[in-house]
Amino acid sequence: MNSSSRGLAVCSPKITIHLQCVKPHFKLAKRKTLKGRHRNKGNGINLDNRSYQKSFILDMDGVVYTDSTLIPGANEFVNRLAKGNYKFLFLTNNSYYTPLELSNRLLNMGIDVPEDYFYTSAMATASFLKVQRPNGCSAYVIGGKGILDELENANIEITSNKPDYVIVAETEEYDYAKIIEATLLIQEGAKFIATNQDLTGPSQRGPVPACGALVAPIEKVTGIAPYFLGKPNPAMMFWARKKLGVHSANCFIIGDRMDTDIVGGLESGMTTCLVQSGVTTKNDMNRFPYQPDYVFNNLGEIYPETIQSKRIRVES
Ligand SMILES: [Mg+2]
Repeated sequence: MNSSSRGLAVCSPKITIHLQCVKPHFKLAKRKTLKGRHRNKGNGINLDNRSYQKSFILDMDGVVYTDSTLIPGANEFVNRLAKGNYKFLFLTNNSYYTPLELSNRLLNMGIDVPEDYFYTSAMATASFLKVQRPNGCSAYVIGGKGILDELENANIEITSNKPDYVIVAETEEYDYAKIIEATLLIQEGAKFIATNQDLTGPSQRGPVPACGALVAPIEKVTGIAPYFLGKPNPAMMFWARKKLGVHSANCFIIGDRMDTDIVGGLESGMTTCLVQSGVTTKNDMNRFPYQPDYVFNNLGEIYPETIQSKRIRVES
């Protein structure tokens, strides 16, 4: 992959990541060995095993960039991951963009990462439906290309004719007729799910409604709350790690929000790193009953080889 093939300008310094770094290995046969070969008797977990290879899941907004500006140190950190041959994945609750669009967005900021390095709440929603309804299902969707692409890839029928689900995702096409249709379909028996519970998204003039706010009128009228698939739902963390092919024991999540990234990582058994380059300050952090394992000002301060899995501390 190169910049010219995408027709996009590349800022300097440019980082190029090769796809083979995170070749997924999903086979069940790997799971069989977790209890046996991957543990040293009496010495806790053997972190040298491939499934226990140190790996990183990175939130994007407030961690890698703010709006269209790269956060200082982000490109250097991604370069450290690539040079160290660490497995890593970008994880975002934003269900509006496709992985290719997210890849292009980073490319415009000087980081060239293939689209296979991204996992979104839209992908988690499609994974959830595929597992829940292996024989197929249908959905009425209020959402953009990000969710529609994933549902199509999962062979989920999009319809307003007796759908199994109503799905709300990030969208710029939200109107009264769609709210009415969703409300009636849920009252007629459709299950209600949504990609992410974020109430707001950023704009240059201030916070604007996001998916968690868009579900409100439908929930008010039906009395039914949606099931959210995005962070902090541990299901999304599970599928992200599944995509990387790693165990939680040596997987680190780096995020800027206590109520999504950090609690989601905590409840999924990962080691949690808060960066203060986004929405959470140290004062905000201290108000939560749970705390991250590590706190950094930004990605530039993180050297992957120097931080340790919390499992080493917990099990020693
Ligand atoms: Mg964030």
